[in-house]
Amino acid sequence: MGGMGSGRPRGSGRRTVEAFWSIDVNRLQCQGCLGAGWSGGWQWSRDGEQVASIHLRAAHDRLHLSYRVRVSGDECQDVTETVRIVRVRCRAGGSRPYFICPGIVNGIPCGRRVAKLHGAGRYFLCRHCYRLAYASQSESGRDRSLRRATKIRQRLGGAPATAACFPPKPSGMWQRTYERLREQAFDAEMRAEEAFELQAERLVARINDRQRKRANRRQA
Ligand SMILES: [Zn+2]
Repeated sequence: MGGMGSGRPRGSGRRTVEAFWSIDVNRLQCQGCLGAGWSGGWQWSRDGEQVASIHLRAAHDRLHLSYRVRVSGDECQDVTETVRIVRVRCRAGGSRPYFICPGIVNGIPCGRRVAKLHGAGRYFLCRHCYRLAYASQSESGRDRSLRRATKIRQRLGGAPATAACFPPKPSGMWQRTYERLREQAFDAEMRAEEAFELQAERLVARINDRQRKRANRRQA
């Protein structure tokens, strides 16, 4: 009885990503954690208290993760995982990093280009591999999130664009205040990006569906 992953998820049946630890490639990039040779810890905290952490080591085009997972009761196992990173050129100049999801589902490698990986099980994988739903999926939710993030960035004297690195702490601002605002902005941006991704997916599904119907009609 018990242990992580046992039993059925509560609620509507689909789990939501907000409930799990995740790593965000843009956030790692902005904090300098993707530079070849960089290594260090990455922590998650709740109410100012550290609740989980993993160790990261960056190479030229990949990131090595190592962490412990609880398998049952007090028994823990060491896990290592390597994630490829690709950099895609932006139209406005510069480039944006993405993770290549290392998941293998039913023998088929995932390989999706994603900004976030979720530690919802033994490994950090994309939300498609874990079939995670998002709590905020509406378009208005996306706009709201973007506005909130932009306001915080501008308050700190930064550019409104989410692809730009986060502005440094203004002199005279408490470190804790700055960290809280940064957390809020990253969170809002992540939600906006996820909502956008979902909209794009739905659109592609609709187009595929229409094409399939048209093909069926031609066959009939
Ligand atoms: Zn995946």
